[in-house]
Amino acid sequence: MQETSTIAQLQEILLNFKLSGKSIGFVPTMGALHAGHISLIEKAKVENDIVVCSIFVNPTQFNDPNDLIKYPRTPEQDKHLLLNAGCDILFSPAVDEMYPEKDSRMFDFGELDKVMEGAHRPGHFNGVAQIVSKLFDAVKPDRAYFGKKDFQQLAIIKYITRQLNLPVQIIPCETMREKDGLAMSSRNVRLNEQERLQALQLSKVLFFVKENAAQLSVKELKEKANEMLSTFDLIKREYFEIADADTLQTVDRIVPGKTVACIAAFVGNVRLIDNISL
Ligand code: AMP
Repeated sequence: MQETSTIAQLQEILLNFKLSGKSIGFVPTMGALHAGHISLIEKAKVENDIVVCSIFVNPTQFNDPNDLIKYPRTPEQDKHLLLNAGCDILFSPAVDEMYPEKDSRMFDFGELDKVMEGAHRPGHFNGVAQIVSKLFDAVKPDRAYFGKKDFQQLAIIKYITRQLNLPVQIIPCETMREKDGLAMSSRNVRLNEQERLQALQLSKVLFFVKENAAQLSVKELKEKANEMLSTFDLIKREYFEIADADTLQTVDRIVPGKTVACIAAFVGNVRLIDNISL
């Protein structure tokens, strides 16, 4: 695995591959890698000649400064996991490399960022769009891999890719879960034993909603979900929404395969999100 922290060197490495007609798959991450990230690397590996993974904890997408400070960083373990997964190039730039000066670009996401994460984390998706567009420009991949775990992020990246005519194919990847159902997340390591137990309730709610989607109304499903969350003292729900899988706007009727249930909650001080297709 070749490693670099500068855009110039990354492009030098990539040039040779591109000249010889090799396809490039790209997996952007913020590190603290787990099996969910590695599943993206593995998919990229199957579908491309060369796989690039970036590790960059992007400051412009953190609306909560404490979340940025406490974001887990495990560079040595990440390298080891990437090496084992057959990643070809690791790009881990410093903040100054990606933001030599303040990025004042403002993106328009239509209605997509007016709900859920966008509504609760002001500026978050603008920061995501800033870094993803910069990374796409640096790597110029044929395909880029994003997890459905961050469902709204995926919708927003597809949207800007279309809007800006970016020459990259966006590949959605399934959410990887722990054996008990909890969605894998870099933030899970910050949960203590009790919080980890209660965090399980997020996926339990989503599985319940999926199982009962045909029998109960959206109103009943939401009531039940909120009830299931309210009995856990360490969980503070931010939202539970049932939304159209394309527009992300809330719906009052479930269309199988075209509707998604999304949840965000603090478990202790750790903010977790998850979703399931209904
Ligand atoms: P992050 O490092 O959290 O920015 O995530 C990097 C990429 O990995 C994003 O496209 C995420 O959606 C994806 N990802 C995070 N967690 C999971 C998971 N449990 N399963 C699949 N993909 C994931």
